[in-house]
Amino acid sequence: MLYNESLYQELSSSEPKPGVVSNSSPAAHGSANPSPLPPLQDQFGRTFDYVRIAVTEKCNLRCTYCMPEEGVDFKKGDQILQADEIIRTIGVLARMGIKKVRFTGGEPLVRKDIVKLVEGAAGTPGIKTVHLTTNGILFSRYAKDLLAAGLTGVNISLDSLDADKFQRITRRTGVEKVLDSIRLALDLGFPRVKVNVVLMRGFNEDELPAFCELTKDLAVTVRFIEFMPFDAHQIWETGEHFASAENMVNQMKTLYPGIMDSSGTRTEHHIFQAPGYAGKMAVIPAFTRSLCGNCSRIRLTADGRIRNCLYSDDEYDLKTPLRTGGSDDDLAAVFRTAFAEKAKDGFESKKRSAVKRVNIADIGRVSMTQIGG
Ligand code: SAM
Ligand code: SF4
Repeated sequence: MLYNESLYQELSSSEPKPGVVSNSSPAAHGSANPSPLPPLQDQFGRTFDYVRIAVTEKCNLRCTYCMPEEGVDFKKGDQILQADEIIRTIGVLARMGIKKVRFTGGEPLVRKDIVKLVEGAAGTPGIKTVHLTTNGILFSRYAKDLLAAGLTGVNISLDSLDADKFQRITRRTGVEKVLDSIRLALDLGFPRVKVNVVLMRGFNEDELPAFCELTKDLAVTVRFIEFMPFDAHQIWETGEHFASAENMVNQMKTLYPGIMDSSGTRTEHHIFQAPGYAGKMAVIPAFTRSLCGNCSRIRLTADGRIRNCLYSDDEYDLKTPLRTGGSDDDLAAVFRTAFAEKAKDGFESKKRSAVKRVNIADIGRVSMTQIGG
């Protein structure tokens, strides 16, 4: 059964009452969802309350694990969803029980209307949090406006604290700018500030202790992410740079014998706080895929395709109904089809995609920037 009535009622009744301003976040503008639709659910009973929207494929860095120096064949102009199309989609999703929005990319801050997008998402009835994942380079330019627009959280990616290493991984300079952005986000009072570190063996694994020490004085969550081999250019294919979540957890336990379990989001599968520390440290087993049973996320690519799993190549076209007069029900139907077909986990998704794929050139998307990391 794809539609679970009791859950539907629970989701609808948990919305704030009309006119009551929720204290939970500045993004929640308080009005109840006027006309809820049945929630999005898959055949395994998972419900989805979180959408990650890539708003561009372009980026001002060139992280080696993400894309080649020359970039990829970036879609632009009319090929990518416009602000009104994105905001309309968020409205439809909110009626289906989606409460959390994350803007990502590519680098979302290279998109000039990013503040408008945040404002639109934050003002959508039913949306409780609006977050952004950024490399932090342009953050100071937009930080105050983003906060005023209703942004409730920012994840800033930083893979090395060392200027040379930073340059080697991103093929650009800027480590100080990124560190300043983290401090600025805290100073401005963003409700949630996180630091994303893709940990790689033989490259930045030795920096795990230094990144953990950031949490001593800074009230951030430092999240170590397992590297995922999504690059079709396959520079990491050998697996020699893979650092496992298990190994990261062991290192933390060795570093901080009194470390305590803490609470975090669903993806923060392991999360700890060292005694007396202001922030938290988390491990995300993105490749090991211990998270799939709890999956609650929807992905929308910058060019308007729905993806039901990071590991699946299957895509569902939302842009066409958006541009050919499709009703809200038509848009909702595309999401329902995508999630009715979601596989049990990322291993199954990958297997199915591999069967369909004849050769490497059949992978339409060669970088996380095109999927929305
Ligand atoms: N440009 C923004 C940034 O870097 O934060 C947003 C997009 S980026 C694709 C989102 C996140 O995905 C970043 O934290 C990045 O480090 C991570 N990422 C990119 N490629 C990855 C890969 N192959 N494995 C694991 N994480 C990856
Ligand atoms: Fe750009 Fe983010 Fe990819 Fe790095 S990980 S190249 S910052 S999109």
